[in-house]
Amino acid sequence: MKNVLLVYVPFCTPASPPYSITNLYSFLKSNCKDNISVLDLNLEFHKIKFASFSAYYHDFNKWDNYNEVTDQYRKLTVKTYSENNKRVVKGEKPELFEELLGGIIDRKPEIVAFSIVYSSQAFYAFALVTELTKRGIKCVLGGPAVNDKLKAVADKVLENEIELLSYIQNMEVSHDRLNFNYALDYSVFDLKDYFTPYPVIPLKATTTCYYKGCTFCNHFKKSPYMEYSLEMIEETVVKSNGKYFFLIDDMIPLSMLLKISKVFLGLNIKWCCQLRPTKELTLDVLQELHASGLILIIWGVESGNDRVLKLMNKGTNKEDIQRVLAASHNGGIKNIVYIIFGFPTETKEEFLETIGFLKLNQENIDLVSTAVFGLQKNTLIYNNPSRFGITKIIETERTVIEPRIDYQTSIGLSNSEAKKMRDGHKRTLGKINKYPKTMNFFREHMLCLGQGS
Ligand code: SF4
Repeated sequence: MKNVLLVYVPFCTPASPPYSITNLYSFLKSNCKDNISVLDLNLEFHKIKFASFSAYYHDFNKWDNYNEVTDQYRKLTVKTYSENNKRVVKGEKPELFEELLGGIIDRKPEIVAFSIVYSSQAFYAFALVTELTKRGIKCVLGGPAVNDKLKAVADKVLENEIELLSYIQNMEVSHDRLNFNYALDYSVFDLKDYFTPYPVIPLKATTTCYYKGCTFCNHFKKSPYMEYSLEMIEETVVKSNGKYFFLIDDMIPLSMLLKISKVFLGLNIKWCCQLRPTKELTLDVLQELHASGLILIIWGVESGNDRVLKLMNKGTNKEDIQRVLAASHNGGIKNIVYIIFGFPTETKEEFLETIGFLKLNQENIDLVSTAVFGLQKNTLIYNNPSRFGITKIIETERTVIEPRIDYQTSIGLSNSEAKKMRDGHKRTLGKINKYPKTMNFFREHMLCLGQGS
């Protein structure tokens, strides 16, 4: 029997237990007899470093000055993460390194499996993996943010839970003999320690986005689309004893949403999810979803201009989006709207059309979350830049994470012009928000607060 430790590393927001290692843990417990344990070092780091904020976020009776406190928290964490990442780049140890390393060593693992979901986790992971391998402990990595620099210091990079099981058992495992019908076991974490007033449990209904169409997106690149069993989802919800659930899927098709809502109907829970505002989401449908506890939807609206939406291949249009937001609001659901400014070729007029669109629909919008377009590898735009007016892609090497990607365009707003225009409209956008704007940083708080009507 081997001692295997699954680790989640700093830095990301410690708002909920990590889905990735809970899924690995639950799969391994159902399929092997080895000694499997988990460690959320990201939470441990934040509990020590930001103890007063932890206390604040646990008690929402104190949230009168939420914007002010969260703005302070955001600035402090940005500074802390950046200073620590610089230390790693210089070959120094990041803050609290000995404490967190000790947490791993104390468990005497033979294998440590790291889940790297965000590139912001790559630095701390790099420091830990380098140290552990020096001490003769096997380190394996998996997750969407594993990069070449991390690959170079780890023993192995694994694609999925089956490869991890094969690695642990040192032999090929046969799919036919595996049990995929397992509920997620969140009892391995102290759920009350996360930075929310109530535990918010992440769930997934599907393996990946079924749509896979947006030209700027690479979230779906590897996995085939599959739906998880409804029995497993229900068992996870019941076993967790939780009340708030965040469906972290990038996108869930309507047929699956309706099936899930039937499961959730009798469970007396509140949940939220991320969707594209497509026209099949009518008032009737949204009311049905709301009746099952859906109180908040994060909508990938992206733009209020039809030409830009078409170029994004979002499969939506302005008119439908407007109708869906109104139906959702009238159905008792809170609406969070994601916007991308500065999509390649977007003109100043089109940018302003999106601002006008948001103002026009402000009654049906509870929070706006904006980003300025960033070019990602393995996207349709990256592979066909000229179709999107991109004349040059510039990649600058970085020490621990993947190269930074900049680009030049022949038409439309440049990236810096879009940033400047977005900053110039901060007040206008701020007036639309019903939630504190800093809740964009802690989306789980919206779920705890957003009771719906
Ligand atoms: S942006 Fe969302 S809906 Fe579009 S392809 Fe990516 S995951 Fe799917």
